[in-house]
Amino acid sequence: MARDSFDQEIWWEPRCCHASLWYDNWTQLGALHYIMPLDHVIDENFEEVNQLRVDERWDNNLLTKLIDSSICDHVNQVMGTIQQIEENDKQWWMPINKGKFYVGSAFEIIQSRKDPHKDIMFIWERCLPFKFSFLMWRIWFQRIPIGEVLVKSRIANHIECYCCDTNNRESFNHLFVLCLNATYLWKLFAGAIGMQGPFIQLKQTIYKWWEEDCATKLKPLCRAVPSFIIWQLWKRRNIILHGGSMTRHTMVLEINRNIHLMAKSRYSWLAEMPNTWTSIVQFLENYTTLINNTMVRWKFPERESYKCNSDGSSLGSNAFCIKNGQGELVYVEACKTEFCSALQAKVKGFKGGLLYCLGHKLLPLTMETDSVTIKKILDGIWRCLGLFL
Ligand SMILES: [Zn+2]
Repeated sequence: MARDSFDQEIWWEPRCCHASLWYDNWTQLGALHYIMPLDHVIDENFEEVNQLRVDERWDNNLLTKLIDSSICDHVNQVMGTIQQIEENDKQWWMPINKGKFYVGSAFEIIQSRKDPHKDIMFIWERCLPFKFSFLMWRIWFQRIPIGEVLVKSRIANHIECYCCDTNNRESFNHLFVLCLNATYLWKLFAGAIGMQGPFIQLKQTIYKWWEEDCATKLKPLCRAVPSFIIWQLWKRRNIILHGGSMTRHTMVLEINRNIHLMAKSRYSWLAEMPNTWTSIVQFLENYTTLINNTMVRWKFPERESYKCNSDGSSLGSNAFCIKNGQGELVYVEACKTEFCSALQAKVKGFKGGLLYCLGHKLLPLTMETDSVTIKKILDGIWRCLGLFL
């Protein structure tokens, strides 16, 4: 990927004009096979730039026949005449004024070319299985062998979409957005969440989903839906390519199933997660968090008994205090705790208080703690792993 983009930064200054007409960047715009429209047919009879030259000028008739008129204008304006020099074409590293390549400048280019949309990380949404993210990532960077890529790489001249009879070329936008089933799926799933089209270009469509303003719990799913739709379109295209078929109904079912599985995995505590995207949207839009309140009251110790409280223990210190039946302070102790968690500090405070009371026969005794973990272990609800006590 980096090599492709660096090639475009090297300008081949025409001298003897042996640079490749289609694959070297001799125009300063980029190699012609990169910048020409996808449906442009490359004339294989012309390989080198010097074939476009008549004496010291460009053969404008031939230029207009072979390449786009805007590029012809650019060539004439920027490189009006070419001096006849019997030297190899000179390479210039365009990012640097002096034109000389050094590694640091290439590194800076890579840094500056990072995708400006940090949202691209949504490709790797949590709980979205790797295979969906990986396919999406490959498509984002056009790294799958569909017609558009094969034509650009000169592996094929012309590849039509396998999924419809419209004779359209198999480009990313056609296959994943404009093809018949693609249009249907985007509309169907967008409709359920009230998202408006038009869906014309692939990245624009994906961004629409990533940026959709919806309920908080729906957002991760909205960011994953494009991956599921694209996965299904890609799967169907490959099945057809190998002689099989897949109905529209099956595609919708599979996408719904994948969304449901992700929703279940992401929100495992919501037991009644529906099966279809439309119902999931309604379910999560109406979801409200249930909050349980428990009232806690401190009870005065009974007469002739003691109460030991270790609530103050936390990260960095452990402490306990003991009061008698009249509410008078009997004893208090606090010490610094290093290298242990908040829970360990609480256990140390609790244990210190208990041992002190037993050692000084401060009985009967009520132990108090604000740690749910300690309470559940002592009540026998949770198992103690023997790490603390
Ligand atoms: Zn199609």
